[in-house]
Amino acid sequence: MKELQEKDLKYIWHPCSQMKDYEKFPPIVIEKGKGVYLEDVDGNRYLDAVSSWWVNLFGHANERINQALFNQSNTLEHVIFANFSHKAAIELCERIVEKTPDRLNKVFFGDNGSSAVEIALKLSFQYHQQIGQTKKTKFVNISDAYHGETIGALSMGDVDLYSKVYKPILIDSEKVEGPDCFRCKFGKNRDTCNAECFTFMEEKIKEIHEEVTAIIIEPLVQCAAGMKIYSPRYLVKLRDLCDKYDINLIADEIAVGFGRTGKMFACEHAGISPDIMCLSKGLTAGYMPLSLVLMSDKMYDAFYDDYNTMKAFLHSHSYSGNPLGCSVAIETLNIFEDDDVINKNLGKSDYLRRKVESVLDQIPFVGEYRQIGMIGAIELVKDKDTREPFDSELRVGYNIYQKALKKGVLLRALGNVIYFMPPYVINESEIDLMVEVAKDSIIEYFEEQYIK
Ligand SMILES: *Cc1c(COP(=O)(O)O)cnc(C)c1O
Repeated sequence: MKELQEKDLKYIWHPCSQMKDYEKFPPIVIEKGKGVYLEDVDGNRYLDAVSSWWVNLFGHANERINQALFNQSNTLEHVIFANFSHKAAIELCERIVEKTPDRLNKVFFGDNGSSAVEIALKLSFQYHQQIGQTKKTKFVNISDAYHGETIGALSMGDVDLYSKVYKPILIDSEKVEGPDCFRCKFGKNRDTCNAECFTFMEEKIKEIHEEVTAIIIEPLVQCAAGMKIYSPRYLVKLRDLCDKYDINLIADEIAVGFGRTGKMFACEHAGISPDIMCLSKGLTAGYMPLSLVLMSDKMYDAFYDDYNTMKAFLHSHSYSGNPLGCSVAIETLNIFEDDDVINKNLGKSDYLRRKVESVLDQIPFVGEYRQIGMIGAIELVKDKDTREPFDSELRVGYNIYQKALKKGVLLRALGNVIYFMPPYVINESEIDLMVEVAKDSIIEYFEEQYIK
């Protein structure tokens, strides 16, 4: 492993990393994967509790998906997507329109999550320009949002860690205080509240709606902010507000789509349809970079005219509609159907909840355990009564992450939040292992802190 690590660090700049950290903690070089496990070049195994950054659904080296990819690569690997098409894209779009909420009838392709967000922003802006509402140029987002890393997508985010330094070059967006259920200002509970916190959005929009083209939101779970779960009531109210003021609702389901929250799409919990929906990550079960932007006919029609009216959406990516990605996405949908995945996951998510709850009182500094569907998160706090967080400089999560890796579980924390978002092929004994290692790693970390 050592030789490979040295070479890696000689040439490679890893994502979302301070490269100096790698001096003490070099990258783990993975040789292969199978099911929920990854195996490094020395033969150590790691249970992938974070689905390799929220993308994997049906395990590594899944035989059905491997076969679909193999078959497609022997038929057509890629073709220009302007003026040309292919069967895999057509089938994928027909089926995804069927599966997603009503009103999303047209599909545009991107090749990663951030590009899907960029497409959504451009579509919304241009839509309002073309229907004569030219004052509607502003985007609204909520606090703690995360929508990706390219400049437009980053502008919609509110995680300072990622965006602060770029502020001078970001698009000006209007940030509204969003739900913060663990530290609810209204003293409510997310399971029973009426999304009282929506009042911030209501007031802001009342004031500026004439300038607003779209509100972008991660439905139900703000994953990057630490798996912050909020009430579907918020989304119901948001849909009504957008309707009232002719504002496009952009649902970024990049992380929560494809069953993570227990339903195929998180919007279903609220029974709403957005005007635009962004999909990626689980779309290809963790195999290929691909994204889709779905939209309503109303939006599509505002672009549909004679060429010389210059109303077309002249956006493209070289790999638009990539057939390999499309075929893998089709097989992903096949697996959802053939294996009744959404229903089977209900049992697994129940089991996960019971397992975590059975060990929770052994774990120190737990502020809250929250879970929805196949996403579970333990938020550690310095003070349980005041819910005061640990200082980020302590890097609590990062330390626990390293301990868990030594014990064979990949549990990449988000700040002080240790979370579980495993591939759906995880079984009960693997859930036990994942939770036990999380528990032991947290305990070990805090014991060391006390001894020091
Ligand atoms: C990951 C993510 C993105 C960005 O997707 P990339 O493929 O990493 O560019 C956007 N929005 C949400 C909610 C995400 O979780």
